[in-house]
Amino acid sequence: MCGIVGYIGQRKAVPIILDGLRRLEYRGYDSAGLAVLDDHEALCVRRASGKLRNLEDCVRLNPVDGPYGVGHTRWATHGRPTEENAHPHRDCTGDIVVVHNGIVENYLQLKRELQAEGHRFITETDTEIIAHLIEKYFEDRLEEAVRKALKELNGVFALAIISRRDPNKIVAARNGPPV
Ligand code: GLU
Repeated sequence: MCGIVGYIGQRKAVPIILDGLRRLEYRGYDSAGLAVLDDHEALCVRRASGKLRNLEDCVRLNPVDGPYGVGHTRWATHGRPTEENAHPHRDCTGDIVVVHNGIVENYLQLKRELQAEGHRFITETDTEIIAHLIEKYFEDRLEEAVRKALKELNGVFALAIISRRDPNKIVAARNGPPV
């Protein structure tokens, strides 16, 4: 089982997220990533394959920080353990990001339906469909869109989601694994 960390508060999120991911390393993983909303309200993603120190190096080379965000260590089930397939995953607009533990069992069928509706996929993962489903249902409240998207998912999962279209919140959900 891999790991999910989220932070929202008065402190800088990135060091707290990295520290949380470090504490979850014992679970095993093949890649890691994080997303934060920065002070200019841009949703910034950093990812790296391999060890957590690769993600830390990536953040050192391309610094980013903000008051809240999510992080993830991945144990690949769908798609190779590459940087492209590392979480967080984004919707078509890049305004919604998702980290996910578990498996979406009906992802192929959902992917075909979303592609037919015009959504563009850039990874090999089952997780990316969740970002696009949330995009599809998004009106103004992130938690409502997540609720609607979850009705379509089969499988066990733990999720954390942020969006710059509904800022200052992290939405978490689970069906099976703890979160
Ligand atoms: N099924 C997802 C993937 O392959 C999540 C795996 C995990 O639990 O880390 O990216």
